[in-house]
Amino acid sequence: MAKDPICGMKVKEDTQYRSEFQGKSFYFCSSACKTEFDKNPLKHSR
Ligand SMILES: [Zn+2]
Repeated sequence: MAKDPICGMKVKEDTQYRSEFQGKSFYFCSSACKTEFDKNPLKHSR
């Protein structure tokens, strides 16, 4: 399981909602969280 960096929910790594940033993969519970991450990945990837 991975952690959604936006809302803190646990998410499965086979989710369709994922982003790559600085060589790392991030997983999200929904398109809303992914969109939020993509707006400011630097802030949310810490
Ligand atoms: Zn989320």
